[in-house]
Amino acid sequence: MTNSQHTDIAIIGGGPAGLQAALTAGRVRRRVTLFDDGTYRNATVSHMHNVLTHDGTPPAEFRAAARRELTAYDTVSVREERVASVERDGDGFRLTLATGEVMTSYAVVLATGVRDELPPVPGLQEVWGDLAAQCPFCHGFEFAGQRIGILGAAAAPHLSALLGPVAGELVVLDEGQELPEGATLDVPRVAARVTAVERHDGGLRLTLDDGTTQDVGVLFVVPTLHQSAPFAEQLGLDLNPSGCVLVDEFGRTSVPGVTAGGDLAHLAVFPMPMASVVQASAAGQVAGNTAIAHLLSRR
Ligand SMILES: Cc1cc2nc3c(=O)[nH]c(=O)nc-3n(C[C@H](O)[C@H](O)[C@H](O)COP(=O)(O)OP(=O)(O)OC[C@H]3O[C@@H](n4cnc5c(N)ncnc54)[C@H](O)[C@@H]3O)c2cc1C
Repeated sequence: MTNSQHTDIAIIGGGPAGLQAALTAGRVRRRVTLFDDGTYRNATVSHMHNVLTHDGTPPAEFRAAARRELTAYDTVSVREERVASVERDGDGFRLTLATGEVMTSYAVVLATGVRDELPPVPGLQEVWGDLAAQCPFCHGFEFAGQRIGILGAAAAPHLSALLGPVAGELVVLDEGQELPEGATLDVPRVAARVTAVERHDGGLRLTLDDGTTQDVGVLFVVPTLHQSAPFAEQLGLDLNPSGCVLVDEFGRTSVPGVTAGGDLAHLAVFPMPMASVVQASAAGQVAGNTAIAHLLSRR
């Protein structure tokens, strides 16, 4: 593999995981190409939180700063392109871009993240990442002292326990669903179904199917996670029950030469990805290091 369309490590994803993996590889002058098709999980978020030294920074600003830093590393290229497929090719990999262009690599770092499928409530998508969110660490503090809503019974015990010291008042809107087995809830519950969500007086007005409304400052929901990209399936990677890619402590997937980091992957001990910018960056660094170890093992 010595043609001009070769890169030693192909990193797919330009969020915190992929950007950190590229920085790590660039620091030891490995030839890296990072692909980014511009679809970030936190695209609708104006300010990210719980990120040391960047608490409150707009995510786009964070990514732009990371991109600027990468320009110092002459072996790192960033391409704003979508990768369509990845397949094994001898002891390396063949990537086909959406343009039809083909590239080869010795190692692949998957950092493509996940896509959130929201409960099908009209208006919810429009306020996602702003007045509706999934993570109390990312989004709770800004609504301290306000009335906070939680949609659905499944995560209500956990979310209400976390948000208790933050909220002025909590309300669970659960259509009368059963709580998880053995769980209790010491929070008012509304058994009606939420049929619409709209902005109202700086917060949200929720319309219910019994004709009443509930006003809250912010609404917490539990999205269903989907892989953003088809590569886990194309490469036949082992998955966790969550649907995310199974990795070990070194970020290795079940296919040698393919590492993964960020929201798309997690260790078997976790029920889901520990989704945060810092965790994704850390996992990206591990995945980048392990990709380099894979290159060294080929010599
Ligand atoms: C509403 C919301 C609010 C959040 N707020 C916070 C917060 O305040 N603080 C915090 O720490 N975390 C927050 N998070 C979590 C955080 O956004 C994620 O944990 C983090 O973005 C994961 O990084 P990642 O690199 O794994 O994936 P992403 O940031 O989603 O990046 C995925 C990358 O893969 C690329 N990609 C995907 N498919 C392809 C393809 N086929 N070809 C090329 N590129 C591709 C995308 O373009 C993108 O560059 C929030 C999440 C949500 C949903």
